[in-house]
Amino acid sequence: MRLILFGPPGAGKGTQAKRLETVHGLKQLSTGDMLRAAVNSGSALGNKLKNIMASGELVSDDIMCDLIEDRIKQPDCQKGFILDGFPRTTAQAEALDKMLQKNGINLDHVIELVVDEQELFNRLQARIAESGDAVRADDNEETFRHRLDVYKAQTAPVLPYYKEKDLVRQIDGMQPIDVVADKIDGLLTKKAA
Ligand code: AMP
Repeated sequence: MRLILFGPPGAGKGTQAKRLETVHGLKQLSTGDMLRAAVNSGSALGNKLKNIMASGELVSDDIMCDLIEDRIKQPDCQKGFILDGFPRTTAQAEALDKMLQKNGINLDHVIELVVDEQELFNRLQARIAESGDAVRADDNEETFRHRLDVYKAQTAPVLPYYKEKDLVRQIDGMQPIDVVADKIDGLLTKKAA
């Protein structure tokens, strides 16, 4: 099973991807986590990425596509994977299609978690309150607003690309975590049946 979890920052993609990894043995590929690991490693690449990420802008398509292409070939992805935070531009979606074709694999679903903007800000406030000083560098109101603008301008336009391929499944991401998880499981069971 190969899935894309799609939705604005704070929609719950990471939470659901982690659960899918545990319950279904699919590998979570969070590009945000991979980039944060590169930043924390202090590598030359990491240092270049640090400011881009802290500003809420997107890292270049070339870097992102290389990162994902390397990753999906690894043995731990052979049973299936969940892309969490990728693709974020139409160019990335097109590059992903080419990679998958080259490796003879298909996408099963693009799961869109739909959450309204007010709820995204409520969740941001809750994360800030919970995390204190450990809050992510891009989890402050100003940068979050910019991340949302970037989502609307560059990432949401990827949806029609997948709608045309009849891959998009919308799920109401405003519901409690367990309810969203059940709905996702329902999709996966239907596909497997
Ligand atoms: P995330 O943890 O998914 O919210 O990602 C955090 C930050 O990493 C984003 O705001 C971008 O700066 C960068 N990033 C993550 N995934 C991508 C991607 N697919 N394309 C470009 N930049 C990305």
